[in-house]
Amino acid sequence: METTQCLIIGSGPAGYTAGIYLARAGVEHMLVEGALAGGQLTQTTTIENFPGFAEGISGFELMEAMRNQAKRLGTPMQSAIIKSIDLSNRPFVATLDTGDTIAADTVIVATGASPKYLGLDDERKYAGMGVSACATCDGFFYRKKTVAVVGGGDTACEEAQYLSSLCAKVYMIVRKDHLRATEAMQQRIAERENIEVLYNTNAVGLYGNNGVEGAHLVRFMGTDREERFDLPIDGFFLAIGHTPNTSFLNGQLELDASGYIITQAPTTATNVPGVFAAGDVADPRYRQAITAAASGARAAIDVKDFLQ
Ligand code: NDP
Repeated sequence: METTQCLIIGSGPAGYTAGIYLARAGVEHMLVEGALAGGQLTQTTTIENFPGFAEGISGFELMEAMRNQAKRLGTPMQSAIIKSIDLSNRPFVATLDTGDTIAADTVIVATGASPKYLGLDDERKYAGMGVSACATCDGFFYRKKTVAVVGGGDTACEEAQYLSSLCAKVYMIVRKDHLRATEAMQQRIAERENIEVLYNTNAVGLYGNNGVEGAHLVRFMGTDREERFDLPIDGFFLAIGHTPNTSFLNGQLELDASGYIITQAPTTATNVPGVFAAGDVADPRYRQAITAAASGARAAIDVKDFLQ
């Protein structure tokens, strides 16, 4: 069994920043990267709102830079997934998918969040056959084709905008009569001639023989104006928000109604002494790269104080 003073779980901006701070503070630590080193940001396009990059930077490059910085300063990293963790006694004991175990005096949970799905059987049926939650990963397969993006937030607009540069036509399926996205983002959508927003519309199913050929849609669902229609599309992209990645915790930390870890503001402390949470897994409100990085720094400082 390996031992450490602090186990950082997760490799997004929160995890890497925690590593950078702990390395510089001389606290023994180790970072387990999870299934996707660099986290969600590696899947996005250009990031224009992370200070310090006047021309913007790709999500992948930004995460690579954070990873290299943590590595250079001395953060040991393991490419593995934490299957379970026992938080009932200190040191806490984490079990990895490799079968190895790590005993840690403190833990920073920075496991981020995963994209949500609508919960339709057809999403599973057509997984990898026309259904995706990542335009930058899969958009390439839909060049000059017709796709739909579900959602009306900033993520949906970003995905639609990205797809519109590849695809012949992009529909946005928005359940309300307006977009939730920021004004600037809405403006960009309005400027794209090949994006059409279908307001007051819900997707209730998909059809197709060898992959998605269309979506079953309902306009004004549940009202006396309800109207059902089919929309021929080749790809169906989900962009309806995220679910925090906490299942490996098995109910040992206090979560809010949406599943986010509750921290004791202004600190990153959870209800278990010695366990801290940073980044999107504990942030239903801001969910920005910069706020995640900032909370990673706060968690590292909280760990140092706790150990002292
Ligand atoms: P949001 O929660 O902001 O938006 C989710 C969207 O999906 C909403 O339009 C919501 O509709 C819709 N939705 C949710 N559930 C369903 C459902 N079951 N059926 C149909 N539609 C559904 O999530 P985002 O991922 O877009 O953004 C998260 C945060 O990250 C936000 O704070 C956002 O500003 C930020 N962000 C910033 C970016 C940037 O600055 N470049 C880029 C991307 C995200 P409704 O409005 O009806 O609830």
